[in-house]
Amino acid sequence: MTEHCIFCRIAQGETDTERLYASDDITAFRDLRPQAPTHILVIPNRHIASLDEAREDDAALLGRMMLVAQHLTAELGLDRGYRLVLNTGAQGGQSVFHMHLHVLGGRQMQWPPG
Ligand code: 5GP
Ligand code: ZN
Repeated sequence: MTEHCIFCRIAQGETDTERLYASDDITAFRDLRPQAPTHILVIPNRHIASLDEAREDDAALLGRMMLVAQHLTAELGLDRGYRLVLNTGAQGGQSVFHMHLHVLGGRQMQWPPG
């Protein structure tokens, strides 16, 4: 846990953010500034600053994050599709340096993304 990291605090239940999913190692919650009708963030509870800091030992954790996304989109009825985004580093558009998987749905996605 990194004391000043907002996503660490959300994972620890220290904020009033509603958690849509919470297990020993993964938490999911709604994005504060949604970019689609459904916009959820899936994070590891452990502070991993970005995908670049993930290691071989984290392979199962990374896989489970995707399965949590799959589970939530099914639960929320996004049966027409959705998009997963993992911004990494400044040029990748990452602004919060606690790794998170964006789950976006509920509208037609465009390609290429901005
Ligand atoms: P990034 O730009 O790093 O890929 O995404 C960070 C995301 O976190 C942004 O979409 C932003 O709206 C969201 N965010 C930042 N601070 C908070 C917060 O305190 N609570 C929630 N729920 N989302 C946040
Ligand atoms: Zn953190």
